[in-house]
Amino acid sequence: MTDFESITDRPSCQFDKASAVTERDTALAIAAIRAECSSTVISADDCERCGAEIPIARQIAVPGVQKCAPCTHRAWLAAKGVRRG
Ligand SMILES: [Zn+2]
Repeated sequence: MTDFESITDRPSCQFDKASAVTERDTALAIAAIRAECSSTVISADDCERCGAEIPIARQIAVPGVQKCAPCTHRAWLAAKGVRRG
């Protein structure tokens, strides 16, 4: 057994924890995108949050989109409990 194997075999290994968090966050992000893409609502021309114009490419790529990309990202971070100073 190499040193690397002995480290990663420990149940409390930081690598395992980080990997689990990344996997969970990725699954949540994919679920949020799928939910947004399955909408039957007509895409908005302007962001409901900040009023910025939503590019037509985003309206087509994300059916039913109501927010611009930055506001969607900020909402996603807020939902995860991430706060910025
Ligand atoms: Zn916005």
